[in-house]
Amino acid sequence: MADLAASVGADHVLPGDGADLSAYTVDQRRRYRGRAWAVVSPGGTDEVAAVLRLAHAQRVPVVPQGGNTSLVGGAVPDDSGRALLLSLRRLNRIRGVDADNRTLTAEAGVILQTAQQAAEAAGLLLPLSLAAEGSCTLGGNLASNAGGVQVLRYGNARELCLGLEVVTPAGEVWDGLRGLRKDNSGYDLRDLYIGSEGTLGVITAAVLRLHPRPRTVLTALASCAGLDDALALFERLQARSGGALTAFEVMNPQALALVAHHRPGDWPAGLGPAGAARGWTVLLELSDPREAGPAQARFEALLAEALGAIPGLGDLHPAQSLAQARAFWRLREAIPHAQAADGLNIKHDIALPVSRLPAFVAAADAAVRALCPGARPVTFGHVGDGNLHHNVMAPPGVAPADFLAANEAHVNRVVYDCVEAHGGTISAEHGIGQLKREALQRHQSPVALALMRRLKAALDPEGLMNPGRVL
Ligand SMILES: Cc1cc2nc3c(=O)[nH]c(=O)nc-3n(C[C@H](O)[C@H](O)[C@H](O)COP(=O)(O)OP(=O)(O)OC[C@H]3O[C@@H](n4cnc5c(N)ncnc54)[C@H](O)[C@@H]3O)c2cc1C
Repeated sequence: MADLAASVGADHVLPGDGADLSAYTVDQRRRYRGRAWAVVSPGGTDEVAAVLRLAHAQRVPVVPQGGNTSLVGGAVPDDSGRALLLSLRRLNRIRGVDADNRTLTAEAGVILQTAQQAAEAAGLLLPLSLAAEGSCTLGGNLASNAGGVQVLRYGNARELCLGLEVVTPAGEVWDGLRGLRKDNSGYDLRDLYIGSEGTLGVITAAVLRLHPRPRTVLTALASCAGLDDALALFERLQARSGGALTAFEVMNPQALALVAHHRPGDWPAGLGPAGAARGWTVLLELSDPREAGPAQARFEALLAEALGAIPGLGDLHPAQSLAQARAFWRLREAIPHAQAADGLNIKHDIALPVSRLPAFVAAADAAVRALCPGARPVTFGHVGDGNLHHNVMAPPGVAPADFLAANEAHVNRVVYDCVEAHGGTISAEHGIGQLKREALQRHQSPVALALMRRLKAALDPEGLMNPGRVL
């Protein structure tokens, strides 16, 4: 403890047997409660390296943590009380924006929203956007290869990252902070650390790719009889909008019913009575870096034509103002909060080939209902990139915690089997953490698992980095 205090300052070390550490040791969903030997908050890369050298010398496990918004229990320690929780939040400096190179260099503890604002101040766009952006950090985004609502146009965190600075488990610093679009000088270390969930090393800074800010944005809600009608709309807009489709989210009626019940204030005015949706609702966004006028008229014409061409497409509401566009997004963002208010549920963050989504949803819902009559699948997600959140809620009148305890393993099994049968993946954007470790063993190929274990052994031979997560 004294060595740690000497490395980062006594004010930045919280001993595990002292203060209340639950902000660090309990996960976002309050599902995992661990204990830490200490919480240490270094203020710079050199201090992270010093802490890792100490932990390495004494064989102390290290759990890196950013905003602690992980939905798979990835950022909290186990309950042994042996691990050092390494909070990266004090690494919060924007090191620079290079407007000509369209890059932003920032430390791992910078809150995503702060990085977005720094890009905006330079007249550019950092397009990584997710509902936790006010509290998640760039390091956590990269370590979990976060997705979000604009992946369709701009890609995951991986596609937005050009360079990294990483501290290895032994405390060496790898400076790969180069803003290059092309670099084939050996194995791609950057891609190795992105998505590694703190199990290979600690990300301390990154160079992120920026984009031109859109000047024309059209946001709309559409109601569809079925998910296949939503996909017909998606394919039509992809084919005819010249790459302008930025977001395409879907929400099933149960998802909207939850918002109407638990968060009526988030129901947008002008959309009819709260909870009345019977089919699937689409939230879409078209954008263009050019001025409004021709682009706006083109977007409106595209939507009007789609309404005439797709029989299962019902109402279509283009937002009439920026305030209304924001209200449409609030409806989508309210779903996870409404679910949380309703109680625990069995979550599946999955991705499938877009063309297989309707068949998957029909098969998975039927399998879940056969297993647990009355269970309510709440399905929503970033369908433009094939990513669904397929969450199963208890039948009405059944306590959510009892439902989860009795059924989670069985429901996971049938849903993940359906995912595999339709060519999908059991983790689209939240990672593996501790929640999906067993499912990974079952659904990942043996060769892929063996390669992952060899990589882990090569880069973290003592097994000190975030043990028990991913593998
Ligand atoms: C309301 C809500 C909405 C969300 N929506 C989305 C979404 O749309 N898309 C999406 O992808 N995710 C989403 N998430 C999940 C979560 O917000 C993201 O995964 C986020 O990127 C995690 O960032 P964080 O700083 O909170 O990381 P943490 O939760 O602190 O950590 C996540 C993982 O990264 C590791 N880690 C953290 N920092 C570092 C570092 N500097 N170096 C190495 N490893 C590190 C941790 O050990 C852990 O394994 C959502 C979460 C919430 C609560």
